[in-house]
Amino acid sequence: MTDSRFLTHLKDTLAGIEAEGLMKRERLIEGAQGAHVTIGGRRMLNLCANNYLGLADDPRLAAAAKAAMDSHGYGMASVRFICGTQDLHRQLETRLAAFLGTEDAILFAACFDANGGLFEPLLGPEDAIVSDSLNHASIIDGVRLSKAKRYRYANNDMADLEVQVLTAIKEGARFVMIATDGVFSMDGYLANLKEIRRIADEYGCLVMVDDCHATGFMGPQGRGTPAHAGVKADILTGTLGKALGGALGGYIAGPQPVVDLLRQRARPYLFSNALPPAVVGAALAALDIVEGADNLRRQLFHNAAYWRAGLESAGFRLLPGEHPIIPVMLGDAPLAQRFAAELDARGVMVSAFFFPVVPRGGARIRTQMNARLTMDDLDQALTAFEDAGRKVGALK
Ligand SMILES: *Cc1c(COP(=O)(O)O)cnc(C)c1O
Repeated sequence: MTDSRFLTHLKDTLAGIEAEGLMKRERLIEGAQGAHVTIGGRRMLNLCANNYLGLADDPRLAAAAKAAMDSHGYGMASVRFICGTQDLHRQLETRLAAFLGTEDAILFAACFDANGGLFEPLLGPEDAIVSDSLNHASIIDGVRLSKAKRYRYANNDMADLEVQVLTAIKEGARFVMIATDGVFSMDGYLANLKEIRRIADEYGCLVMVDDCHATGFMGPQGRGTPAHAGVKADILTGTLGKALGGALGGYIAGPQPVVDLLRQRARPYLFSNALPPAVVGAALAALDIVEGADNLRRQLFHNAAYWRAGLESAGFRLLPGEHPIIPVMLGDAPLAQRFAAELDARGVMVSAFFFPVVPRGGARIRTQMNARLTMDDLDQALTAFEDAGRKVGALK
């Protein structure tokens, strides 16, 4: 590097991040992701993965991945439209569409790419996107990449949504698409899809729902937040990287012309490699498991209710809700970090979230339940939370 001023500049930026206490450090997991993980030779209880159904280390998925590699090879070395589409890719797209109740689906390398590629081909400068203020970063980026006019409504604020929709219409929008996360992942709150659907129908808008934190376990058979709310979304996006096995991969599901046009025009689809056979084969097996996994879903929500009740009776401040994301509110960022460190010392792995990921003063430990945690695990975690909470002064 010839310009040392540039690297000095980067080092200064990093020093600033460190000085503000915002440096993120990655823990090295030795072995598989799961309800328990090994870190530095220590067995830790894991309360921070998106592994809702506990499938990330499921031997049936590993076996399906191996079988797909044996029959279909390791990599595709091509984007889908040149020579990268296997029978497996179309099977998974058809399967996802059937599972979600849409006409078709299209795979992406990740949901980040699905959201990044969704808006630009479908909407032009004559159109409008009305987006929840707490939507995932990938929706925000995807909206930025489109030429549609942008309107933002306060998180889950249905009166504001209606105002923004009316403004978009008054300002001449041809098509209006409302975009929302199905679940807001920092709070574990569900989007008010019943009311969003009602407003959309009243004013002739489209509804796009990113259901990454719901597909596989919310709603009947895990079909997601629209099914949970008893309504339909026009377009759904989701990930294979959370409840559906936890590997990677994303998709958009919706009406045939939507999927067909995205296959022609979505840039992350056109200019990025096809998903590898192992991931696609395992995702098909994951859907087999998920469709019949009422027992896992029951265990997941039982765990969530048990964990929530335990934390509440210990005196922790929680946000209300029904989702297996259960944030423990601490307020102060250094307090949240000290709390996370004390839990780590007690064999419990959690993640502290603070500004700018959540509002200032809203620092928290976000805990996430999964179906593989046992009552013993949760009792042990609760003891650790109580001890650590008293030690750092979060509990009396
Ligand atoms: C995790 C997540 C994504 C990104 O999914 P990937 O497949 O990991 O890229 C997008 N949107 C939401 C709401 C998410 O929670």
